[in-house]
Amino acid sequence: MIRLHFNRPGNRTGRQPSTWLLDAPIFTVCPNCGFTPPEALRYVGSRYGYVGSFTCSRCGARIGITDGDCRPPVRFTADVPGQPQVSFIYEDVYRLNWADLERAGAALRTSLISPGEKGYVDVEAALRALEAEIARLDLPHAPAPLPDGVTWVPLPLRAWLDALHTLGV
Ligand SMILES: [Zn+2]
Repeated sequence: MIRLHFNRPGNRTGRQPSTWLLDAPIFTVCPNCGFTPPEALRYVGSRYGYVGSFTCSRCGARIGITDGDCRPPVRFTADVPGQPQVSFIYEDVYRLNWADLERAGAALRTSLISPGEKGYVDVEAALRALEAEIARLDLPHAPAPLPDGVTWVPLPLRAWLDALHTLGV
């Protein structure tokens, strides 16, 4: 299951609507040697900013994973001299930010974000709707380019990126 939380603050607050991952697979990166393990990590937020850790299977560095107390970005820090870091806003890499969801909803002539100030987006249900629209339009599959520094994206999200790209979103 891939879930996203959204917050649509009232106009009076002056804050922008936002989305953030609640439960999703993330790719990980070793900031010491650049290795990206071939398996995803299930990200379900953090406890006071601590997400988890792993040992790089290529260089042996211990990598700590932190976030902004369940908010982006997710940061990888290698426990080696200099403490090299790399961080990602997965909502942007995965195109699950507010603007992309609004564009995807427009392509489907519906809204993927329910009314109300707060709630959740079921990304897999949204993906099924996009794929049904692609099938209806009989569009050829178009693989989406990935941002710089990203070598792979776990499968349901890879399909999401490709579906948006295929629909010209
Ligand atoms: Zn490494």
